[in-house]
Amino acid sequence: MDLSRRIRSINNENPSDWEIHYITKKLVANGASIVDLTIGEHDIGTDSSILEAMYTSAISGNTGYAPIPGQLELRKAIAKRVEEQTKVETTYRNILVTPGGQAALFATLAATADEGDKALYLDPFYATYPGTIKALGLIPVPVLTQSYFGFEPQKPELVNSAYGAKSLLINSPNNPTGAVYSSETIHTIANVCKENDLWLISDEVYNTQVWQGKHISPRSLPRMAERTLVVGSMSKSHAMTGSRIGWVIGPEEVVSGLTELATRTTYGVAGYIQDAALFAINQGEILEKKVSAPFERRKGIATKVLSNFPSLKYVVPKGGMYLMIDIRNTGLSGKDFANQLLYKHSIAVMPGESFGKS
Ligand code: PLP
Repeated sequence: MDLSRRIRSINNENPSDWEIHYITKKLVANGASIVDLTIGEHDIGTDSSILEAMYTSAISGNTGYAPIPGQLELRKAIAKRVEEQTKVETTYRNILVTPGGQAALFATLAATADEGDKALYLDPFYATYPGTIKALGLIPVPVLTQSYFGFEPQKPELVNSAYGAKSLLINSPNNPTGAVYSSETIHTIANVCKENDLWLISDEVYNTQVWQGKHISPRSLPRMAERTLVVGSMSKSHAMTGSRIGWVIGPEEVVSGLTELATRTTYGVAGYIQDAALFAINQGEILEKKVSAPFERRKGIATKVLSNFPSLKYVVPKGGMYLMIDIRNTGLSGKDFANQLLYKHSIAVMPGESFGKS
């Protein structure tokens, strides 16, 4: 029996994108000692206070089906937090709780385009973006960004791709480049979306990890709340990657539509995970800072190490968990470089090719 074209299309361009990550996992499982930098995973686990809140909730009986758009108290807490951060009026009706940011990406892409429509995303990109777009039967259109602009998108490239597209997906702070888009860039993006009637999907899962500049949510710009869908997550901000908890922030009718989608797909998120997320959000910035601080410190260490290798170039990350290194002066491909780093030095990194052409 053949699988559907749609399923076969998901990873048809770069089937080896995740190869080095899976090889590393296997080597580690077999006892190898490897510094694994392939994926955005903290080395600390979820804070024990969050786990206690999870346990208390589960043992008290919150183990049945949870409300599909999310528990009211959590939706209210997310709305309050985003309203404080962005000054945009936000209520629980603007919030859909999802099993992680990835499910929110799928949902927002599903909400904003129909089969055969073009969906724009910026290159370099988080490795799942094109496959998520293809899984929905949409046409992925990468918009290239350049290192000499700090990997911030520029108006001509955005405008050239915008005609006939339905949505634009952005990610600031960025995986994998560490770019935090300037106010000027966010305004340019917003204007291109308004002028070309595009939905804007703003993946803000790294918004608690900003080392330089300021994170600006495009939803806060004039007339943008009606066309912006924000993807959020507790994975990176609270080291809750395995708990699978995130959200979509958007207009009420989008949240209603996506509740229908969730009823046919995820059927919501476990109540005890939502209670733990509520507890974590209520701890405020203290917990967020505790989780983000090691990454800022390590960015400093990594750039110091790299200063010993002048042929390796990079754009200093302004936020997020990652550093993208231009290794072309070595004459190796990203894949060969990554393989040698793994097998000769037991350090696992992703080849740059996994993130697109830019
Ligand atoms: N968006 C970006 C840019 C990411 O890097 C990730 C995970 O690495 C996600 C979304 C999805 O995160 P999660 O599904 O764990 O919330």
